[in-house]
Amino acid sequence: MVAEEKGTISIHTENIFPIIKKFLYSDHDIFLRELVSNAVDASQKLKRLAAIGEFTGEMGELLVKVSFDKEQKTITISDNGIGMTADEIKKYINQIAFSGASEFLEKYKDKASDGQQQIIGHFGLGFYSAFMVASTVEIITKSYREGSQAARWTCDGSTQYEITEAERQERGTDIILHIAEDSEEFLDKWRLSGILTKYCKFLPVQVELEGEKINNTQPLWTKSPSELKDEDYIAFYKELYPTAADPLFWIHLNVDYPFNLTGVLYFPKVDNNFEVNRDKIQLYSRQVFITDEVKDVVPEFLMLLHGVIDSPDIPLNVSRSFLQADSNVKKINAHITKKVADKLAEIFNNDRKGFEEKWDSINVFVKYGIISDDKFFERAKPFALLKNTESKLFTLDEYKEHTKANQTDKTEQLVWLYSNDAQKQSSYIQAATKRSFDVLLFDHIIDSHYIAFLERHLEKTAFKRVDADLADKLIDKDVSIASVLSDTEKETVKEIFNKNIGGEGVALSVESLSPDDLPVTITLPEFMRRMKEMYATNSMG
Ligand code: ADP
Ligand code: MG
Repeated sequence: MVAEEKGTISIHTENIFPIIKKFLYSDHDIFLRELVSNAVDASQKLKRLAAIGEFTGEMGELLVKVSFDKEQKTITISDNGIGMTADEIKKYINQIAFSGASEFLEKYKDKASDGQQQIIGHFGLGFYSAFMVASTVEIITKSYREGSQAARWTCDGSTQYEITEAERQERGTDIILHIAEDSEEFLDKWRLSGILTKYCKFLPVQVELEGEKINNTQPLWTKSPSELKDEDYIAFYKELYPTAADPLFWIHLNVDYPFNLTGVLYFPKVDNNFEVNRDKIQLYSRQVFITDEVKDVVPEFLMLLHGVIDSPDIPLNVSRSFLQADSNVKKINAHITKKVADKLAEIFNNDRKGFEEKWDSINVFVKYGIISDDKFFERAKPFALLKNTESKLFTLDEYKEHTKANQTDKTEQLVWLYSNDAQKQSSYIQAATKRSFDVLLFDHIIDSHYIAFLERHLEKTAFKRVDADLADKLIDKDVSIASVLSDTEKETVKEIFNKNIGGEGVALSVESLSPDDLPVTITLPEFMRRMKEMYATNSMG
């Protein structure tokens, strides 16, 4: 038997260090995001200390500067934030996975703050991403504290470091990366500016690359909706997608409980040929760009939207499967769905005409949402519209009323006719409307799924394509049908038909209601048509 023993698990830094450097981030570009974020944090901390009276010196303009030297093979990230003393370097830099950011937040959490000075850091790992591209990293820094001595730290990526006194006079920090041979691609203005515009475009402290401004420090989503006009939202949309047409409308997300979420989602203008582009929403965490792969954060059907989501509560350095299971992500997902439904309901209720005008663009989202999310279906029921071949729009309830009198079969089931190609099926549409039947237009790829969904969820309602055989469902109700053809003519037509066109289930109708009606129609029962379609898609897939 082993005697009871308690202890601390130890880590051999020599072994874990290469893992952190190599595998922590799959993307080497990230080093710049991390180091610039730290510089921004250092500036934000100074602002926070000034706000609570712990820093009373001259703040000056807070600025993060990125520069590079091709000859010396260095990239330098400079800030005039709080800086560090030698002791602080030992504490914050030498201890991997000890986050000075978390400590700072913990320490000052009770002090009044205007909530604006957000701190990005969290895990205490970001700094070491520098070694993904640098063989040696140098820090030259001076703390904001009066009379503090500047310090210099260097490390060549082994577990050994060196700290000495330095000459620096001004408050702040320079991180100097001595770029490794295999990373010299980063010693290039376009490469650096590309990375900065991707990740740092909306950071809250001014960032410059060789004197050029990179960021908009007050992006629209960080402002209060009450200060913003339509023009502001449209201008921001253009800032995000310079070539896109004006958006239809937008939703400003602004939640701070039970999770933190801000952002703006735009409904783009789309038509039936709209290309499904799923990479239009950008995910940020405290104004740092994280990814444009928002799967799992945004409900799948809303991935067609455009815009920005910013949440510090979405775990970022973890695997996708973890993300799916994360409870915050689930809540955020549900919140966005609700907001979108609320916005659509609001437009529908306040401006039905405007809503109808937008329907061609939004119907795909709505249908997709209805099919994929039962909760959304419940919310969307009142404003999910049906469009008929005369371009009239009805809610589900209105359409029920509209068709009740004429399109109910013997079992009291509603039969809703539809066309998926108004041009090709025009003769059938004509024949149906002549009988005072209404025909819906369902001509988007999503519609076959949508119809199947509605059929499962609406009570006593069946859908039939307009070229299906109507007789078995509707026409034989009470109407007596006269034919414009004589009996012999009918026989001749039937003979020709059977020889040339006939097949399983295909039916010929030589009855017509009136002389100007079509004398002959060829139909296929709805279930046979669907079977055929199913086999066709299955064998294709
Ligand atoms: P995190 O940002 O998650 O706390 P990092 O590994 O990125 O972790 O950084 C570790 C700590 O080092 C920071 O929390 C901060 O205390 C300190 N630090 C890093 N860069 C700077 C800087 N430019 N100015 C002041 N302190 C810094
Ligand atoms: Mg950091």
